[in-house]
Amino acid sequence: MDNRTFILKGNFCYTPSADTLVTRENSYLICEDGISRGIFPEIPEKYKDLPLMDCRDQVIIPGLVDLHLHAPQFAFRSVGMDMELLEWLEQVAFPQEARYQDPEYARTAYSIFAQAMKKSPTTRASMFATLHPETTILLMELMEETGLKTYVGKVNMDRNSPDYLREKTPLEAEKDTRNWVENTLHKYRNVRPILTPRFTPSCTDDLMKRLSQIQKDYQLPLQSHLSENLGEIEWVKELCPNTRFYGEAYAQFDLFGLDCPTIMAHCVHSSPEEIALMKENGVYVAHCPQSNTNLASGIAPVRKYLDAGLSVGLGSDIAGGYSECLFRAMAEAIQVSKLRWRLVDDSLQPLNLTEVFYMATKGGGSFFGKTGSFEEGYELDAVILNDSTLPTPLSFPLKERLERLVYMGDDRNVSGKFVSGTQIF
Ligand SMILES: [Zn+2]
Repeated sequence: MDNRTFILKGNFCYTPSADTLVTRENSYLICEDGISRGIFPEIPEKYKDLPLMDCRDQVIIPGLVDLHLHAPQFAFRSVGMDMELLEWLEQVAFPQEARYQDPEYARTAYSIFAQAMKKSPTTRASMFATLHPETTILLMELMEETGLKTYVGKVNMDRNSPDYLREKTPLEAEKDTRNWVENTLHKYRNVRPILTPRFTPSCTDDLMKRLSQIQKDYQLPLQSHLSENLGEIEWVKELCPNTRFYGEAYAQFDLFGLDCPTIMAHCVHSSPEEIALMKENGVYVAHCPQSNTNLASGIAPVRKYLDAGLSVGLGSDIAGGYSECLFRAMAEAIQVSKLRWRLVDDSLQPLNLTEVFYMATKGGGSFFGKTGSFEEGYELDAVILNDSTLPTPLSFPLKERLERLVYMGDDRNVSGKFVSGTQIF
């Protein structure tokens, strides 16, 4: 038995499905070699000699999964929030990302980011770096040290961006990307590379073809952006006159699900054809309500995606979003869905606590395998939450304690964290 075999005692919440919240007060979770063996009211006889960590009256939830964020943008969170997407990229994001060609600056900025991620309730994440291979590897090394399980992507972009932040030719971009993949594919325990074309306006057809070949050669997953902003969607129509909808701009290069596990951020304005193809190809939606609000992109019809059986997770989208704490994404997913229901389309019911908790755990977690739940056989990612810093004279049942943490909690409530059975702190 190694130290990934133990018992956690406390109050557990998890969601086996989007419409089921399980709460178990004062119970015992058995972890064997990093895998959950389930939650029991008493310790089963065969496990009675395992080491026990008593979390007393704290709330224990599966680790949260952030399906979309930009690590280099953490440094300028909540700056330049009065712009829409395309202006914000040009004025704020691109000049700042260019700084990551400097390893010294990158080390300083990425170290701050990695520490924040470590302390947050997130245990898994898929993130963009910048187009610079050297400092992307630096980010991967820093993330490896945190113990979180992450996908990190060297960004590809060879058009429609300033000279100082653009890959010179598709061939050079391919070479850099192949070298980076070769260097990092089997190097880490916790970190994996993920192909990352920034978004269609940033990538020529020639580059996309080369990325498609790299994807097939190494069976890599992929992350990008889709149907975030109306101006962006019009632009993609002009750039790709051969496609019927935005998603096809990726699908035409086999970079849209099926054998290429794919996360698409936003999907605020996806057409029925696009939604159907996402469903057919198993493309994940990363819903980022805070970013969609800040950049005035709109409100994604998440209820429609859940009803259609799409895989949906949540993203902080640092720094379209300002908070790396996914509790914000959970609460705001509920809040914006209520505005959408009231103001846009009353046929789509607002999201509820159970649904956003599911999206933040098992929904997004399934991109990483059997994670995001305490069910038997799931990798044990667990976050221990101390809600005594949110005092009240009332005594709430466990579901309401979870709800208070989602709305009012933050990193300061996280008193311990396990990833795949390994204690991070
Ligand atoms: Zn993004």
